[in-house]
Amino acid sequence: MPKLVPDQFCPFCGHHFNRASNVVDDGLIPTEGDISICLECGEPGIYTADLHMRKPTPAEQIELATDEEYLMHRDLWRAWKQKQEAEHGR
Ligand SMILES: [Zn+2]
Repeated sequence: MPKLVPDQFCPFCGHHFNRASNVVDDGLIPTEGDISICLECGEPGIYTADLHMRKPTPAEQIELATDEEYLMHRDLWRAWKQKQEAEHGR
């Protein structure tokens, strides 16, 4: 089940959200420093202490570029998004 996070907007595309799902362990809530992928644009955000998303720093972007777990989830998001667009024309 998605967990509630503060009402906010993706720092990349402005998509509004107030829920987060952990794809590895459904029972976990996000904590500071966790990485999330915007369902709308697929960009990675980092949770702050008050559970708002911020853009990764340049150093974090370099780390993400070689983070196999992140890259796997990004690929899964891409496949999900393509399926959504094919089925719903978005
Ligand atoms: Zn976004």
